[in-house]
Amino acid sequence: PAVIVAIDGPSGTGKSSTSKAVAAQLGLSYLDTGAQYRAITWWMVSNGIDIGDPTAVAAVAGKPEIVSGTDPSAPTITVDGTDVSGPIRSQEVTSKVSAVSAVPEVRTRITELQRSYAAAAETGIVVEGRDIGTTVLPDADLKIFLTASPEARAARRSGELKGADVQATREALIKRDAADSGRKASPLAKADDAVEVDTTDLTLQQVIECVVTLVEE
Ligand code: C5P
Repeated sequence: PAVIVAIDGPSGTGKSSTSKAVAAQLGLSYLDTGAQYRAITWWMVSNGIDIGDPTAVAAVAGKPEIVSGTDPSAPTITVDGTDVSGPIRSQEVTSKVSAVSAVPEVRTRITELQRSYAAAAETGIVVEGRDIGTTVLPDADLKIFLTASPEARAARRSGELKGADVQATREALIKRDAADSGRKASPLAKADDAVEVDTTDLTLQQVIECVVTLVEE
């Protein structure tokens, strides 16, 4: 049977790097659910939808067609056939994605999409996000919840952004985490049966090995 691995946690914990590497090592598919929320947010921004108006966001939540490429060595994401891998990482999308993903109609739509990818994966899939273990795939074979200190997370994110101000990054991260954790619809949360891994003092390689070992157990 296909193995389903859910990896949740806030940003800057090494979630994406870990999930991709684990999937590649074990021959599984990989799904970046944050990229899907970013993609729908990119579409809303591009089409002039007022992000501050949940009713307006809800009304068009079903419009864009989002397709994820699930090869862990080359994940892709398209909206209505356009590759948006670059644009979804912009500061504008990053600052608006929490508000868009708090809208229940958006979550319902994207959650269904995620479940269809998990059901289609032949050998199995590593799904990374915020609510995979609690809401999207509560029957996952293994649930991991990654954490790290705010300092470690901000430092990793600033490193990725090449020279960006660590303090500003830290503040933006904390704000996004608070929004993701505080929303009513499917907040960022650790499932009761998830294994928590604090990555603060671990290298990426150590985190990958830890998760691979847990999958193989
Ligand atoms: O993982 P990433 O930082 O790319 O996720 C972007 C945003 O998408 C998160 O800040 C959160 O608002 C939203 N998200 C979510 N549920 C998920 C994955 C991401 O609400 N499963």
